[in-house]
Amino acid sequence: MRILAIHAHPDDIEILAGGTCAKLAALGHELTFVTMSDGDCGSREYTPAETARIRKGEAAAAAALIGAQYRWGGWHDLAIFNDDPSRRQTTGLIRELRPEIVITSAPSDYLADHEMVSLLVRDACFAAGAPNYQVPTAAPALDWIPHLYFMDPIEGLDREGRPVPPDFVVDVASEFATKWAMLACHESQRNWLKAHHGMDNYLTMMEAWTRQRGASAGYELGEGFRQYRGHPYPRTGALQGLLGLA
Ligand SMILES: [Zn+2]
Repeated sequence: MRILAIHAHPDDIEILAGGTCAKLAALGHELTFVTMSDGDCGSREYTPAETARIRKGEAAAAAALIGAQYRWGGWHDLAIFNDDPSRRQTTGLIRELRPEIVITSAPSDYLADHEMVSLLVRDACFAAGAPNYQVPTAAPALDWIPHLYFMDPIEGLDREGRPVPPDFVVDVASEFATKWAMLACHESQRNWLKAHHGMDNYLTMMEAWTRQRGASAGYELGEGFRQYRGHPYPRTGALQGLLGLA
């Protein structure tokens, strides 16, 4: 199946769904990673242009570890808005990539970029199948609405610090070394996350979160997901089925 993992910044997909994506890639599915932003503000050392160049390279390297394609959506940090041009651009992306399953950011998360991506992708999955909806590319409208899933918010908490229970948890113990290696590609984030997020080591922090989510389902290491079941999005468990959970 064609699977699109789309989130706001370089490193979000790896932190929240890297193990699951590695599992899906190993099963032979075709994965594309999209970061809507190039991550240009995630540094205190480099200029925005340098930071963006470095981070896009890191994201492409991480995706390549599991044979996934990487693409930048065209936005910048803290400049993702749920507005008319952005929705058309996101819809064009969905029409070009033609995913059957889309995994995106949580609707409530610590940063507006994450929430805006969630809203944009949700509506783009709907609009991708409406031929009268004009987009900046020539890609034809889809004949389907993709199955849509949300990753956990960062730390599994919504923007007010309340736990967000997943619909299902994927056991990623076998893929964890790959997940670690994927996130380690984002070396530029080590200093940034230490200075700005107070994270001593972003890799061990990711491990702690993955252990916590896994433990909630009786696994050593896990990643949580929720399926968007709003009318008329597909409600069958396409992703769960691929992962042996349905
Ligand atoms: Zn992010």
